[in-house]
Amino acid sequence: MISEIEKNFYRITLRMPYRLRHVHAYLLAHGKELALFDTGLNTPGAYETLDKDLTGAGLSINNIRHIFLTHVHTDHCSMAGLLQKKSGAKIYLSQAAFEEYQHFRQTDPAVKQLKKFYSRQGMSPHQIDLVIEEYEDIRGIIAEFNADNFLQNYESREFGDWKFEVIFTPGHAAGHVCFFFRAKGFLLAGDHILPYIAPILSPDIFDDHFRPLKTYLDSLSAIEKLPAATIYPGHGNAFVDMMERIEDIRSHHEKRKRVIFELVGKEPKTAYAIADETSRSVTDDFDKFMALNETMAYLKELKAEGVICENTAGKVLVYTRA
Ligand SMILES: [Zn+2]
Repeated sequence: MISEIEKNFYRITLRMPYRLRHVHAYLLAHGKELALFDTGLNTPGAYETLDKDLTGAGLSINNIRHIFLTHVHTDHCSMAGLLQKKSGAKIYLSQAAFEEYQHFRQTDPAVKQLKKFYSRQGMSPHQIDLVIEEYEDIRGIIAEFNADNFLQNYESREFGDWKFEVIFTPGHAAGHVCFFFRAKGFLLAGDHILPYIAPILSPDIFDDHFRPLKTYLDSLSAIEKLPAATIYPGHGNAFVDMMERIEDIRSHHEKRKRVIFELVGKEPKTAYAIADETSRSVTDDFDKFMALNETMAYLKELKAEGVICENTAGKVLVYTRA
């Protein structure tokens, strides 16, 4: 589905089979030429749907000149390679996002690291295999692409009469960026700030120093300073009350961190055991995995605050109150 939000500025909504159900891409037109922001999920029929949507609005995939990616999660980037092949579009993303994409493509080292990383958190080999299966499915969906150049923090870009700034917002994904159209007050937010849910946080399996929650909250402060009038997110409706939403997300994380802290006691527990206590009613394996990732983000902060300790017990990491 495509809708023209204002002259030459479009929102394209593509369906996806995940819990969020849909993802938005945004499109600017300048004459016949187009600039696309994110691409939607490369599931069977998605490309044809996008083609039909654009044709219906008098636009054409062949005229996409630029593709800007907020981050390299599949629902945002997986069609980029197909569109590049068809249109010759240039693709831009942050260097960190491109590195994440390349890590993902090197299957063997990534799978090996995934096994090592999550078994240390207390996951069983069977559960890890399920995650790897999911990961293989996801990997297969991303059409290969070349990056033309890397986006720089706070740089300005132009497309026709449109001017926008690149704002680095790592956290939800290591290389996440938002695009801010100062003259219009638009923020294309990707998954950095969403209207109904707090964006998910995951560890970086290749970088133990990465603190997803701290990084994410710092990036919330970065967009807080922008005079943004309307937020256009990757999922859900556009919204205007950015400050209120930022406060809600901050207090959500504060509460969740408190819950995790309460579950850490004198008895050493793995991150998986703690996550399991927070997600007893969850039966879906992938949701359990998400709960583990979230738990690890809070444990990392609690450890940095000095209120809990992390120790090695045999082959796993365990947590106790400091
Ligand atoms: Zn995402």
